[in-house]
Amino acid sequence: MALKAVYLYAAIVALLLCSSANFIQSPSDVFGPVALLEPTPSAARDFGAVVSEAPVAVMRPGSAADIARLLGALSSAGPGSRARAAAAAVAARGAGHSLHGQAQARGGIVVETRALPRAVQVADGGAYADVGAGALWVEVLEECLRAGLAPRSWTDYLYLTVGGTLSNGGISGQAFKHGPQISNVLELEVVTGTGEVVTCSPTRSPELFFAVLGGLGQFGIITRARIPLQVAPPKVRWVRAFYDSFESFTRDQELLVSMPELVDYVEGFMVLNEHSLLSSSVAFPVEVNFAPDFGSDGGGGGKKVYYCLEFAVHDFRQQDSAADHVVELVSGKLSFLRPHAYSVEVAYFDFLNRVRMEEESLRSRGLWDVPHPWLNVFVPRHGAARFKDLLMDTVITRGDFEGAVLVYPLLTDRWDGNTSAVVPAAPDGVAYVFSVLRSTDPARCGGACVDGILEEHRRVADEACRRLGAKQYLTRQRSRAHWRDHFGAGWDRFVARKARFDPMHVLGPGQGIFPRTDSTAASLSSM
Ligand code: FAD
Repeated sequence: MALKAVYLYAAIVALLLCSSANFIQSPSDVFGPVALLEPTPSAARDFGAVVSEAPVAVMRPGSAADIARLLGALSSAGPGSRARAAAAAVAARGAGHSLHGQAQARGGIVVETRALPRAVQVADGGAYADVGAGALWVEVLEECLRAGLAPRSWTDYLYLTVGGTLSNGGISGQAFKHGPQISNVLELEVVTGTGEVVTCSPTRSPELFFAVLGGLGQFGIITRARIPLQVAPPKVRWVRAFYDSFESFTRDQELLVSMPELVDYVEGFMVLNEHSLLSSSVAFPVEVNFAPDFGSDGGGGGKKVYYCLEFAVHDFRQQDSAADHVVELVSGKLSFLRPHAYSVEVAYFDFLNRVRMEEESLRSRGLWDVPHPWLNVFVPRHGAARFKDLLMDTVITRGDFEGAVLVYPLLTDRWDGNTSAVVPAAPDGVAYVFSVLRSTDPARCGGACVDGILEEHRRVADEACRRLGAKQYLTRQRSRAHWRDHFGAGWDRFVARKARFDPMHVLGPGQGIFPRTDSTAASLSSM
């Protein structure tokens, strides 16, 4: 064992055995070759703002080697391992946009990946970009656009880190065509739970490569990713069309995703009331003259609900208005409420960055740094209408519901079954994303109210998983038994990957998948 590492062990064990208050004398204290800093409030906070677990220290790594020294020291067997195993959990934290404390480490160490080098290097004649895992997707986009290029698959919101979304899935309206972001990675550099720095790809250390994609931060910390690029269009033709029938809305969405040679993006959302019509218009720069009658009976005594389908076509302007012709052709096949289709041409960057305007709008109303009880569920096609009804009977019953409810189809064969991500079994290959995205106003919805919403989400998600074969996305399951159900047939593989790449269970405590218990610590200490 290297002398430096022994020194680091001693320092960290001493550190972790001390009472957590003020044991680090100054933020610049350095333990062996690794600097651990006093935790900042943000290390115990995330976008969800419903979980807050304080670490004892944070680390701002300058390189993969820094992380390797930390993880290597913490996960090695030897004297003091019991103390280390009991105390030293490590969570990678990207932009901290998790919903349930997934990037937090109670009593452990938070590794802030934003500190890693964030260079974006376009290489191989523009075939791919090598990007630091702590880079935000908006930074990747800005840099690639300088070369007229861009990644293919996105999230709706771009202020998330590359490492953070690759640890989950990364979906948006391009996923039907290119798959999620985890299907659009050529190579990764990963520091495993045992402190090994490994470059991996589908052909080089493939087990680690596929484990960390959608791996919820359990197997290693991604430090670099190689992302394939395509030529970026200068503009996008963006269309919104309204429906009063869920059946027509989803039928048309499925028609659009069957035309990947024409269409580049497909999403949609529920229009529940005037508020959702107004708030969804923030980023769509064209006047929408749609004035639905929400008051009329929608059948079964409920309020009438509408749906807005969205699609986009890249505009390369190679021929005059080629995208316009495609939009005309495609729109002619759709059965929206005529004449309520609205089309606008926007710069590609503005289109991809559209949620930034919604963020600014929420910030201006004091609704950004508040609890966000969100619900994200993938529902097999055959259960989509029933899940929509279930949502309307429970979570979104009230006419004054504030928030967005996204609904759009994914094609499950675009997800690589070797990755750790979970999608439902969908016999016809289509699953719907349902995202209930809510910001709670503390003046109207305090702690008990937020807890009530979360409890309702749990009930709805349980029912959808049990009865419809749905799978949750971006959630922290309640117990190991729930995680086992969530992974289903993939559970044994997930456990085996953990045993191989993070045998001491150092990584990803905030997911609650492999909780540390006394018996874990005891068995680890005997290694
Ligand atoms: P963090 O919250 O910092 O981390 C998330 C998880 O990944 C944690 O478990 C963490 O430990 C782990 N992790 C972070 N970095 C690494 C790394 N380098 N290596 C290994 N593990 C790591 N998701 C979508 O798919 N599509 C969307 O359209 C979308 N829109 C969103 C909009 C908003 C406003 C918000 C708040 C979230 C949205 N998300 C979306 C969810 C988002 O993709 C996830 O929450 C993602 O984890 C956020 O990235 P982050 O950098 O903030 O990760």
